[in-house]
Amino acid sequence: MYTGHVIGIDIGGTHFRIGAVGVDGTVQKADVIPSSFIGSAARPLEAIADAVKAYVRKTGIANSLCVSVGLPATVDRQRKMVYSVPNIIGPDSRHVLDNLNIVDGLEQYLDIPVLLNKDVNNLLAYDMFMQDLYDEEIVVACYIGTGFGGAIYIYGQFLMGKHGVANEIGHIPYYKGKEFCTCGKRACTECYASGRALKQLQEKYFPETFIGDVFLKHGAEAPLLEFVEACALPIATQANIMDPDCIIIGGGVVDMPGFPKEELLRQVKAHTRHPLPADDLTLIFSEQRRNMGVVGAAIYALTERGIQTSESFARELKLNIDKQET
Ligand SMILES: [Zn+2]
Repeated sequence: MYTGHVIGIDIGGTHFRIGAVGVDGTVQKADVIPSSFIGSAARPLEAIADAVKAYVRKTGIANSLCVSVGLPATVDRQRKMVYSVPNIIGPDSRHVLDNLNIVDGLEQYLDIPVLLNKDVNNLLAYDMFMQDLYDEEIVVACYIGTGFGGAIYIYGQFLMGKHGVANEIGHIPYYKGKEFCTCGKRACTECYASGRALKQLQEKYFPETFIGDVFLKHGAEAPLLEFVEACALPIATQANIMDPDCIIIGGGVVDMPGFPKEELLRQVKAHTRHPLPADDLTLIFSEQRRNMGVVGAAIYALTERGIQTSESFARELKLNIDKQET
């Protein structure tokens, strides 16, 4: 009786991931291809639409309700246009998606509605679904990957801000910081607390160690303990400003072998106002999956469009979620 599915897309600087989630909680295995095809296409949005059509043909899925796209970008308040997507570049290093109306552009080529969101909001949609947090008043997420991304869910909606670009937590300033960020600004969080910053530390202090082993081999040494404190500062800042019901912490850096999670939690609590909210902080680590952005995009679309799902949707999706993995 419940039919149809949502196509979820997660576009990163390296990978383009696409999958589908049914309103009955079933999933289609996701496809992953290098996202470089977008930058090299004459018409990038037509190329993305062609990838959607190819996925639908390959999987044989019928009755697509909508396409939901997540991008590592600043997205406008109407959730149609992107302002800046520095990670999707053409051969001439041009940012090929900057200032494009993604929704109207894709709908020209696809005969179903398209939704657009900041990728970290979709990650938070996924994490809140998996951890049953949709009934909480304030949920904050911090994802430490290549950069430092954040999302806030407050009083039943994702925090947008006047222009749609609220909570650029990766670009809050560090006092007296001298490093320059990829955004062009000086002293951003991402200069000190991100995968990029970690790579620079590894090259400077531990050049003989493979980056993936750096916490296993040197996690207790000063450069990495300072890095962990740098990661804790924006999380503690969120705790002090928002007094949230919980904070979700995730991202590829936190998921690295040997990452000192206990030390991170200790530093977050140390930098949070006492006695409250510090004494009653709820910090949850994200259950990282490669395709969480795809599933999160689908969950966001189902919620946003008020699409009716089966009573067993949540249970089924949680059971099926590993089938999405590629
Ligand atoms: Zn910056």
